[in-house]
Amino acid sequence: MKIAILGAGAMGSFFGGLLAESGQTVTLIDVNDAHLQAIREHGLRLETGMGDRRISSLETCRPEQVTAQPDLLLVFTKTLHTATALEGIADIIGPDTLVLTLQNGLGNVETVARFVPEDRIVVGMTTWPADLAGTAHVRSHGFGIIRIMAADGQERSGVAGIAEALSKAGLRCTVDQTVWQAIWEKVAFNAALNGICAVTGCTVDQLGAVPAGFALASAVVDEVIAVARAEGVEADADHCRETVAHAIAQHVGHKPSMLQDVLAGRATEIGAINGAVAERADKHGIAVPCTEMLLGLVRLIEARMKADRQPTA
Ligand code: NAD
Repeated sequence: MKIAILGAGAMGSFFGGLLAESGQTVTLIDVNDAHLQAIREHGLRLETGMGDRRISSLETCRPEQVTAQPDLLLVFTKTLHTATALEGIADIIGPDTLVLTLQNGLGNVETVARFVPEDRIVVGMTTWPADLAGTAHVRSHGFGIIRIMAADGQERSGVAGIAEALSKAGLRCTVDQTVWQAIWEKVAFNAALNGICAVTGCTVDQLGAVPAGFALASAVVDEVIAVARAEGVEADADHCRETVAHAIAQHVGHKPSMLQDVLAGRATEIGAINGAVAERADKHGIAVPCTEMLLGLVRLIEARMKADRQPTA
């Protein structure tokens, strides 16, 4: 399978490295020239439970340099960059190209659908974690899974082919018609933990320092799951709360990506997470005060960071 990965950061490089290692033809497309050049010169350093090695069979290029139409385009930019990134490579999306999004948050299918008909979009959720440990160096630990389905809900043979390729690469992918449940439960988890950590600067385990930490996370989970249910998705608040409690107990020292973004002065994915939940809640007349409070606070942090970047007169 000819695979192109749009956004070769932590997740794109991790998936790209494993897929190339399993024998697929993989092109990483990104705007980070230093990362791409280092991969071209020295290969991608991939550190996983399967060892620490270099993958030298990856093709790399900037969006304007891509020409070949892939069988599969895997979108792994941050959600706020998806539309711009797809605009940059729209010409290579051929009539048979399937586009898979495993990004966090809501609204990803709608964004991809501006560039590809819905019957060629595949949507999913992954629990695999990845971090960029340095330029051309990606690290993942533990195990994860992937669940995917056709975005239009139909059974399509291409989706099974994608799952097979991902599983052959060790990524443990299944085709599963209950993907939206998994997506919403992850949104609830992220709306709570990412938002609170981004605002407070706490690592995930530090949210357990006072009862108010878990209580606020739990309130956000309840709000998000109420919206999911209003959207017709059978998401489970108790299951989500258990995952949140487990993360607070186990993820010692972990800085969620939204906190990492704030610490690095970058815009966050709050719009696709708390923002998208608040929009849908409004449509259903459901009050989500804790989710909205976190949204407003992270938006304020982003605005302050942007002002700090402006040169003073
Ligand atoms: P990342 O910031 O490490 O990578 C994003 C990449 O996109 C960067 O390399 C950036 O240069 C590139 N990019 C930005 N604009 C671009 C453009 N116009 N054209 C091409 N490339 C462009 O992000 P990540 O951690 O890999 O996350 C990607 C997505 O996966 C997010 O939605 C995230 O929420 C989700 N996710 C992340 C993890 C994780 O553990 N990191 C786990 C599950 C899901």
